[in-house]
Amino acid sequence: PIIPDYLAEALGDVEPDTSGEPAAYIPELAAADPERLAAAFATVDGRVYGAGDVDVPFTIQSISKPFAYALALADRGFDPVLAKVGVEPSGEAFNEISLESGTGRPLNPMINAGAITVHSLVGAGNPGPAERVERVVHGLSAFADRRLAVDEEVCASEMEHAHRNLAIAHMLRSHDVLTEDARGVVDGYTRQCSVLVTTRDLAMMAATLANHGVNPLSGEQVVPKPVVRQVLSVMFSCGMYDAAGDWATQVGIPAKSGVAGGLIGALPGRIGIATFSPRLDRHGNSVRGVSLFERFSSDMGLHVMEVP
Ligand code: GLU
Repeated sequence: PIIPDYLAEALGDVEPDTSGEPAAYIPELAAADPERLAAAFATVDGRVYGAGDVDVPFTIQSISKPFAYALALADRGFDPVLAKVGVEPSGEAFNEISLESGTGRPLNPMINAGAITVHSLVGAGNPGPAERVERVVHGLSAFADRRLAVDEEVCASEMEHAHRNLAIAHMLRSHDVLTEDARGVVDGYTRQCSVLVTTRDLAMMAATLANHGVNPLSGEQVVPKPVVRQVLSVMFSCGMYDAAGDWATQVGIPAKSGVAGGLIGALPGRIGIATFSPRLDRHGNSVRGVSLFERFSSDMGLHVMEVP
């Protein structure tokens, strides 16, 4: 078993690094076991390899953002989505309260202002809040090829402390970027962030992006090919919070991280990669996850700008 052995060895090498802290702003997340560690690869022909805690569930958090963006683009088409959310890296923290000057749009779909707006755009023909959440959960499940569920405790815990996201949503409402009740949208967005996944699920979701939108196991075209190109491009430039530039040069794989400690990378035409380790660096990215991706990229020459 060459690949599982390789993954286990890589986990062993990063395991002693206990630097960083789990996210503290959501009480339920602060209580997560910081020692959890996992890595998985899913190939575009449907093989999945894993090591460590690959079947331990955790909340998807910001890793839901590229998938919700894909669903919004698929459901509404490019123009209505691009009219409301830009594609420029912000270089700011994920929860920055800022909009593009001139247009009033959020800068990109990977920061919260953009992701909250994107959540409001999922679903064809204006669905109600509950129907929209169902569309998101159903869509994320199609990427994973498994029915996913919301962690109600984490969701409730985050909603009690969602003042900043509510402030962002009210600001979006005041600019008519959101055209409905701000609280309802934040509630739906928080449910989206609270979807439970395993490292194995995330690798498969990433592999669906790597496989031009077709889930390698079910064969379902989850979103159209041009949508995947758009999503991977935005992941490449904006997926790693305010460390996106470092990541693009060092690792060079379209990626997205989440505050629960998950991290995905999707290498077009090749593989989906996922890691899980809850301690985060100062940008909000998983410390051991970043180390693992650096290693995978250099060991296997995965940087997309590298000539094979
Ligand atoms: N639910 C989190 C928030 O919106 C997601 C943040 C993240 O994973 O970066 O604050």
